[in-house]
Amino acid sequence: MSKIWDAVIIGGGAAGLFCAGVAGQRGKKVLVLDHAEVLGEKIRISGGGRCNFTNLHSGPANFLSLNSHFVKSALARYSAQDFIKLVQSHGIGYHEKHQGQLFCDDSAKKIIDLLFAECAKGGAKIRNPVMVESISRDGDIWAIQTNAGIEKTKSVVMATGGLPVPAIGATTYSLDIAKQFGLNVIDPRPALVPLSFTSETFSNLNELAGLSLPVRISSGSKGSRYGACRFNEDLLLTHKGLSGPAVLQASSYWVEGETIHIDWLGAIELNSSFHCDEIFDNEDNRLRLTETILASVLPQRLARAFAEQRNLLGRKWAEVSKKDRQALKELITNWSVKPAGTLGWKKAEVMLGGVDTKELDGQTMMSRNYLGLYFIGECVDVTGHLGGHNFQWAWSSGFACAQAL
Ligand SMILES: Cc1cc2nc3c(=O)[nH]c(=O)nc-3n(C[C@H](O)[C@H](O)[C@H](O)COP(=O)(O)OP(=O)(O)OC[C@H]3O[C@@H](n4cnc5c(N)ncnc54)[C@H](O)[C@@H]3O)c2cc1C
Repeated sequence: MSKIWDAVIIGGGAAGLFCAGVAGQRGKKVLVLDHAEVLGEKIRISGGGRCNFTNLHSGPANFLSLNSHFVKSALARYSAQDFIKLVQSHGIGYHEKHQGQLFCDDSAKKIIDLLFAECAKGGAKIRNPVMVESISRDGDIWAIQTNAGIEKTKSVVMATGGLPVPAIGATTYSLDIAKQFGLNVIDPRPALVPLSFTSETFSNLNELAGLSLPVRISSGSKGSRYGACRFNEDLLLTHKGLSGPAVLQASSYWVEGETIHIDWLGAIELNSSFHCDEIFDNEDNRLRLTETILASVLPQRLARAFAEQRNLLGRKWAEVSKKDRQALKELITNWSVKPAGTLGWKKAEVMLGGVDTKELDGQTMMSRNYLGLYFIGECVDVTGHLGGHNFQWAWSSGFACAQAL
């Protein structure tokens, strides 16, 4: 009789490899199949090559999902602290960069090595490149047809990730399998992605490419798919539009056709007792040029661009009408603009949407209707904020699944 695995994991990325290591160490016979020549490519390119592998503050509030409670059980059972202990046990140096974000001191390869070492410790087998051609069920046993033969298993774990960066092998395979078995899939769309603008709305701002500054940004609305958000983070102006942590975070909540709001002075107000009325209502400013006044709180190039947008460049404050002052104040503290779109899957860091969490048991990640069919990692409708939360979801969902195999 041919061998029957306890679990075959399709996809040897962050969630798949982690799950394989944990399940193997629990005594399960596990096989990982991946179509890529080289495994862990997304981990390798993550965090600018240093992998932001978790966040000290990772909790349910850092995730978008149609069911905001879904992540709670998995995050509680395998937390950021648990993964940090594992990183420490492998002697990997790391540091905190910003708001709890933990990065490798050296390179992301250390995390890939950790995952392979954990798999080896548990005796998990890894085969790649292997093409999975079909997945079917015969009673309690699953049959996985590949280009290298058939594998039989008690459980199948779908861990093929999301759609960002198609150049390194992203596919819809987990979503296809979910649909094949009648599971609902929430429409995927790019998230943590730069936003683009029409030349009309962006006006003279594309000349400021490379400029970065802290802002307060808000996007989404109470009625939209994942609600509304507000972040105080850095924004980066680029030739194509807006990027930087503030915009990436806002992009996950942005719905096509809706407006985003930027308070260019929000970060200054947050960190000091400054209020924008101090410059708009200050009569001592009467003889100063508009752009000079704005440059007291904004980078000079941006101050000039805003003054220019309102045709106030070179005008003394005393000459600026009440109406123009009000319009300028609105522009600077509540710049409301409709993005034309996103830069798409090529530039996105994660996928929004995926296998509907209603279809899965939050304790185990198993399908409610199909015994032995699991979905973990990014293919599930759970998307983290920027800052290490997406890897934490890969570890937590992989761990929850591994306990159930
Ligand atoms: C540029 C970039 C930077 C990022 N930086 C960070 C960061 O610093 N911190 C953070 O938390 N998150 C980061 N992310 C997100 C993070 O990489 C993902 O959320 C995480 O890798 C998801 O894990 P996963 O195991 O679900 O999917 P993946 O890690 O993407 O693994 C999926 C695996 O499935 C395989 N596969 C795909 N299709 C098939 C198929 N049909 N058959 C067989 N195998 C298949 C792939 O080859 C891959 O090995 C970043 C993403 C990008 C794109």
